[in-house]
Amino acid sequence: MMRLNNLSARYNILTGYVNAVDNVSFEVMDNEIFGIAGESGCGKSTLLKVMYDLVSYPLEISDGSVEIGGKDSSGKAVILKTGEIKKSWWRNISYIPQGAMHVMNPVTKVDTQFYDAISKQNCNFNKKALRQEIINYLHELELPASVISAYPHQLSGGMKQRVIIALATFLNPGIVLADEPTTALDVVVQRGILTMLSRVQRKMKNSMVIVSHDMGVHYQITNRLGIMYAGQMIEIGPTEEIFSTPRHPYTQMLINALPRIGDLNQKEGIPGTPPSLKNPPPGCRFAARCPKATDLCRVKQPEVFQINDRHQASCHLLYDL
Ligand code: ADP
Ligand code: MG
Repeated sequence: MMRLNNLSARYNILTGYVNAVDNVSFEVMDNEIFGIAGESGCGKSTLLKVMYDLVSYPLEISDGSVEIGGKDSSGKAVILKTGEIKKSWWRNISYIPQGAMHVMNPVTKVDTQFYDAISKQNCNFNKKALRQEIINYLHELELPASVISAYPHQLSGGMKQRVIIALATFLNPGIVLADEPTTALDVVVQRGILTMLSRVQRKMKNSMVIVSHDMGVHYQITNRLGIMYAGQMIEIGPTEEIFSTPRHPYTQMLINALPRIGDLNQKEGIPGTPPSLKNPPPGCRFAARCPKATDLCRVKQPEVFQINDRHQASCHLLYDL
């Protein structure tokens, strides 16, 4: 379980603040894959960093908090908050940063990467037994045993990403966060990575949070989906429902922009650009690009509208129906 309560985070830059995450609240349940979607620059990576408790200058939390359910070193169930979550990295929560496979330490073999991560847990381990456990786990994830002695440059992009996923899930954390895990990989390799992630989730029955700008990824793998726009979470619901009946005009445009099989027309993106996160406009942040915007939309931020008990969206128009 993971809960975000009115979370806001910003970058402190010389000329002011970039308000990258604005008043975001949601819960990630046990045993689900929760997706976070939205255009580049809308705050997805920042949100994930704050969820992981990876907050350092120039990033700061300006309001709210994150809580996760976990276990302490003796196995007792505990609730950890921002500031404490860091202490349970790897054990309760793990994080695959955007572009992780491009920054694997080139002089460190895969086995050493595992030992380094595990030794951070202060647990005593028998290296030989551990090595066998790692090999077994790699095997389970359909990776050849030989990768354990490989240097990153000896592995393909897809293989590196698989090793990173293995590393992030080896200690069986209750929460796994992955930022754009398939971006920059070709479509066939992408599919393999997504299959691997959902298999790992089904086996561990943990919570996974997948950030991707690619709606196709969410369609394939997530159970519930949150749509971000300009630092805010503007719609949350079961993935199927978001695709079949999106309720926020931005989500509707995102879905309509997706290519469909047999459709030969060139799809157009959404015209216009998101507002500045330094000085966001007073009303709905999507108003300037929204074909349905009214005067109210330009002056007042919409409240969350509950469509049903699992689906919500923040749009003034929903209140008029
Ligand atoms: P996404 O992952 O959705 O593409 P990010 O979370 O990376 O979005 O970025 C959100 C906003 O924060 C963007 O406007 C980006 O330019 C800004 N930003 C990201 N990192 C920094 C930083 N280190 N300093 C200042 N602004 C940043
Ligand atoms: Mg990002």
